[in-house]
Amino acid sequence: MKHVVLGTAGHVDHGKTTLVYALTNVQTDRLPEEQRRGITIELGFAPWRIDDDLLISVIDAPGHRKLVHHMIAGASGIDVVMLVVAADEGVMPQTREHIAACRLLGVQRAVIAITKADRADEELAEMAAEEAKDLLQEQGITSSAVVCSAKTGQGIDALRKAVLAAVAKSLQTPRRVLRTRLSIDRVFSVKGAGTVVTGTLVEGAINVGETLRVIGPNRELSASARGLHVHGDSCERAQAPTRLAINLAGVAVKDVARGDILTTDPCVRPTRILDVWLTPEHPLRRGSEATIFVGTARSVAKIQPIGGIHLLDTDGLVRLRLHTPLVVFGGDRFVLRGALVDGPTGAVVGGGVILDAHPPANLRASKRVALLMALHHDAAAEAITLLAAEQQPRLVTAQAMASRFNIDVETLSAAANTLLDGGPLMTMAEGWVSRGAVDTLAQRALKTVAQHHRAEPLDPGLRRQTLREQLTTQAGANVAAMVVQRLLDAGALVMADNCVRLASFKGADANPQARQALANASQRLTAAALQGITEGAMNEALGVPPKQVRAVLAALVRSGQAIHVANIWFDAVAVKELQSQLVAHFQQESSLTIAQFKTLTGLGRRQSIPLLEYFDATKVTKRQGSERVPGAKLS
Ligand code: GDP
Ligand code: MG
Repeated sequence: MKHVVLGTAGHVDHGKTTLVYALTNVQTDRLPEEQRRGITIELGFAPWRIDDDLLISVIDAPGHRKLVHHMIAGASGIDVVMLVVAADEGVMPQTREHIAACRLLGVQRAVIAITKADRADEELAEMAAEEAKDLLQEQGITSSAVVCSAKTGQGIDALRKAVLAAVAKSLQTPRRVLRTRLSIDRVFSVKGAGTVVTGTLVEGAINVGETLRVIGPNRELSASARGLHVHGDSCERAQAPTRLAINLAGVAVKDVARGDILTTDPCVRPTRILDVWLTPEHPLRRGSEATIFVGTARSVAKIQPIGGIHLLDTDGLVRLRLHTPLVVFGGDRFVLRGALVDGPTGAVVGGGVILDAHPPANLRASKRVALLMALHHDAAAEAITLLAAEQQPRLVTAQAMASRFNIDVETLSAAANTLLDGGPLMTMAEGWVSRGAVDTLAQRALKTVAQHHRAEPLDPGLRRQTLREQLTTQAGANVAAMVVQRLLDAGALVMADNCVRLASFKGADANPQARQALANASQRLTAAALQGITEGAMNEALGVPPKQVRAVLAALVRSGQAIHVANIWFDAVAVKELQSQLVAHFQQESSLTIAQFKTLTGLGRRQSIPLLEYFDATKVTKRQGSERVPGAKLS
C-alpha cells in the first residue's frame, strides 16, 4: 500500500480542521480544550483511506501565531500541503508564515482550498485564490486552487480531486529511503502497554521487535518496538512516509521527550554546530539569534554568515552555533524564527538545509567554503576530495561520513572509489585518504629515518614500531601503517630485525669517526679475551661519548664479535675456544666443578660465573647442583 503525508496550513480559524473532517470524516481536534475553545492546539492526525492501494496520513496543524512551532513540526516530512484560506478574509499573516515555512522545509506541492465560500461573494473568493497562488508561485511551490465550503458542501468533491491529483504527482517523485527515522512529537503512557511515542516516519521502515535508538540532546537509550500502530491499526511493519505510534519496551515516559529522534541509524548524534545553506526571509545580521526548528526539535542558534559577511540578505553559507545540541542529519531542513520580527513572513526569518551536521569546531568556517559549496551543489566527487584534504593526513571513513552530510554516505563512497588509481585519493580500511598527504607523510618518514642514521650511525636502523608510532600521532594508525608498508614495498626502506633503514644506508662504513671507534673497540675486545670488558672500561679506553660506546658495543654483539653476559662483553673467538676446551674436558670427565673451571681457564669468579651461565643458556653445559654436566648440545 502506498502512503502519502498531507499537511494543512493556514491562518487560525480559516477552516482547516473543518475541511479535514469534511474530507476524512475524522475530528482532529481531540483534546477537551481544543473542543471547548474550538481551536487546534496540538497537531491532529487523520487517516484518509482512498482505496486498498493508497492511504493518506493527514496532519492537521494549528494556525495560531503562537503555535507555529507545532505547524513546523507537522510540516517536516510532508509530501503535499493543503493551504486553507477563508474566502471572506483572504491571505493573513500566518498564511504567509506557513507558506514560507513549507517552502523552507522543502514542500513542493500545494492545493489551495478557498473555503467558507458561503460567506463571501465569488469575486472575493477569486481574489483570495489569486493572492494565495501568487504567494506559492513566488516560493516555487506548484499549486492549484479550489473554491469550496465545508458548510454547504460546495466544491468539496473538486477539492478531493485536486488533492488526489497532487498526491498522484508527489508519488512520482521517489523519497529517500536511507535512514529510518522519526522525530517524536508526542510521548504518553498507555495502560497495560507502557510508553508510546508518535511521530511522522519520514524515512525508512520499522518492524515489530526491532531495536531502535532514542536520542535526545543529552541522552541516548536503546528500546525495542513492541508494537506499531498506523492510525489506530496495529501492524507488523511500518513504511515511510506515514504517521506512526510506537509502543517502546525498555523506556520510561520520563526518559523520552518531544523532539527526540527515533532511528536505526548507528551514527547520528547530537551536535552544537551546523554548517548550512541558508535562505533568509529578512536580512540577517552576523551574531543575531533565532529559534531553529528541525523536525519536532528546536534550539536557539547564533547566526554566523561564512566569508566575512555582516548582513546576509541573500542565500548563502552560514555557521549556526546552537545553545542546546540538536540531533540532526545532514540534509535536514530547518526553519528559523526570530522573536520580534513581524514582517511579510511573520516571525519566520529564514531556513534552509544542513550541509554538514558535524563541522570541525577548531576549523574556521571560511576555510571550508569550497567543501560546503560542493556539498550544496551535490558535487559528490569534489566534496569527498575536499573532505579528504580537510582531514589529511587522517583517513576519512565511511562511518564518519554517515549521517553527517547532505550527500549520503553511499554516494560519497561511490564517488571516492572513482578517484583512486592515480587519482587524488587512496583507499584502505574502509576509508580514503588524500594521495598528496600520503606522499608528504612518506617524505617525512624518510627524513625521520635519515635523521636516526645520522644520530646513530652504528645502529642498523629505526625500530619500525617507533617510526609507526611517530606517524600515528600525525595521521592515525591506519595511514601510518600504510605509509611504512608503501615505503618498504617501493624499496625506499629496508627492514631487518624489526628495524627499518634507508635503502642507501651503509652503516658505520659511511661514518669515519664511528668506523674508528668500532675498530678500536674491536681491538680492545680481542685483547681482553676471556677477561672480558665492561662498559665503563670501554668508555675509558675509547674516549668517546657514552651513547656512542653503547652503540659500539651493540654493534659488536650484532656482528657476532662480542658476547654479552651480565654486563661483561667477551670476545666471541675466545669464548668459542673455551667451548672446545669444555668439550675436551667432558671427554675425560662426566662433570665439571666451578673450581675445575677456574683452574682450566685461570679466570676469577667475576668472569667464571657469567661464562658458565652463558654455556648453560646455550646448552653447552647443564647445571646439576653445584656442578656442570654436558648440555643438550654436547650429548
Ligand atoms: P482552523 O482554525 O483553521 O482549524 O478552523 P476551524 O476548522 O476550527 O474552523 C473555524 C470556524 O470556522 C469554526 O467555527 C467553523 O465552524 C467555521 N467554519 C469552517 N468552515 C466553514 C465554512 O465553510 N463555512 C462557514 N460558514 N464556517 C466555517
Ligand atoms: Mg484547526
